[in-house]
Amino acid sequence: TRELHIIGGGMAGSEAAWQAANLGLSVVIHEMRPKVETFAHQTGNLAEMVCSNSFRSDDDEQNAVGLLHWEMRQAGGLIMDMADTHRLPAGGALAVDREAFAQGVTERLLAHPRIRVETGEITALPDRGHWIIATGPLTSGALAQAIAAEAGQDSLAFFDAIAPIVYADTIDMDIAWRQSRYDKGETEEERTAYLNCPMSREQYEAFIDALLAAEKTEFKPGETAGYFDGCLPIEVMAERGRETLRHGPMKPVGLTNPHDPQTKPWAVVQLRRDNKLGTLYNIVGFQTKMKYGAQAQVFRMIPGLQDAKFARLGGIHRNTFINAPTLLDDQMRLRTQPHIRLAGQITGVEGYVESAAMGLLAGRMAAAEIMGGTLPPVPHTTAMGALVTHITGGAEAKTFQPMNVNFGLFPPADGLKGGRRGRRDRYKAYTDRAKADWTGWLSATALDAA
Ligand code: FAD
Repeated sequence: TRELHIIGGGMAGSEAAWQAANLGLSVVIHEMRPKVETFAHQTGNLAEMVCSNSFRSDDDEQNAVGLLHWEMRQAGGLIMDMADTHRLPAGGALAVDREAFAQGVTERLLAHPRIRVETGEITALPDRGHWIIATGPLTSGALAQAIAAEAGQDSLAFFDAIAPIVYADTIDMDIAWRQSRYDKGETEEERTAYLNCPMSREQYEAFIDALLAAEKTEFKPGETAGYFDGCLPIEVMAERGRETLRHGPMKPVGLTNPHDPQTKPWAVVQLRRDNKLGTLYNIVGFQTKMKYGAQAQVFRMIPGLQDAKFARLGGIHRNTFINAPTLLDDQMRLRTQPHIRLAGQITGVEGYVESAAMGLLAGRMAAAEIMGGTLPPVPHTTAMGALVTHITGGAEAKTFQPMNVNFGLFPPADGLKGGRRGRRDRYKAYTDRAKADWTGWLSATALDAA
């Protein structure tokens, strides 16, 4: 039968259902709320926004998430349609009336002749049929255990511990240098895998002061019972002693600064490549609960990062997600259980828009497959393609953490100036290229809507 089951009626599940049903499938959404609740959701509506009421920037020429909005609109996306319908004035951002938005999504799905919603928690992995798991950052415990049993305990995380990510081309290489600690590695690439930023004693002391003084965010009630091994926030490490970081992630050993070989740095901040393209670097060990504004200020005190632009700031949240680069194939199917796709935040994307986008794609992939075909890969040059490429193979699997869409995930455009002055032109070139390629892909893959 042409039937698709979707577990979870959030951002991803709702969009996946809409896409698949419009392409002719019968869809059953299994949603546990309001029977079973989460600590963040308040209602029984589908596509409830659990926190902010913003879909972020709507600028489709200079902003990657704005571009993703554009691509989803072109694909007839329900989440974007309802966001546009219930839009609130918010400058360049797309903010919505959250109640009206979620009700709008719920009504449209319930009114669809090929969509049915069944209320109830799914606690085990289905063994036959076609399924999409889109249960999000707060996947229920029983299902999470079932996923962990299939995928391996190490491949499912219950918290993210996000270190800030910097655009490589905004790091000052007159100050930073490439070197792995003790020059470790088999290949030249491995021996130069890290970027190092040196600190003098004065700079280190000032940095510790700033860390301690910075405003921090709190966990939500019910969110956690404390920190877990191996990923303490840096400010918590600093609170344990002013030297703790210098003996931890900022230790200056095994490194020589070629810009000033005579002076031994007091501390060194290391950045590690975050994607195969080499356009993004994460600051090693710098997961943090500092507020976003404070993070940018404090991290720009690091020599070499004084002009840094951040693709993502740090955070630590309750967040269930899989190691997608190892577990999913390029059709978003579990390699070991190909009748099951995953979509949404559980695949390691971050945010309402990104989650809905991965739902859109999974819904279309499932429809194509059930109709007897295979959806060709989405061009890497599009926002949709950049995201799905990242989670299904572009990201470094060993250090995989959730990701927002950003231009660092796009293949560089040829013949364009780098640096600050060229940035506007570069982003415009990215978005022009993406729009052309997305339009082309959509028309080339148009399935006959039933
Ligand atoms: P969800 O939208 O969470 O949908 C998953 C659905 O699956 C839920 O409805 C849940 O009830 C259901 N479900 C779970 N387990 C089962 C089961 N076993 N059986 C049946 N149903 C099940 N993103 C932003 O962009 N901005 C923010 O401000 C923001 N703040 C956040 C604050 C918190 C506290 C949390 C936890 C997340 C936040 N996020 C935010 C992330 C945001 O929640 C996600 O990006 C987005 O909702 C993910 O979409 P999703 O469809 O993957 O999951």
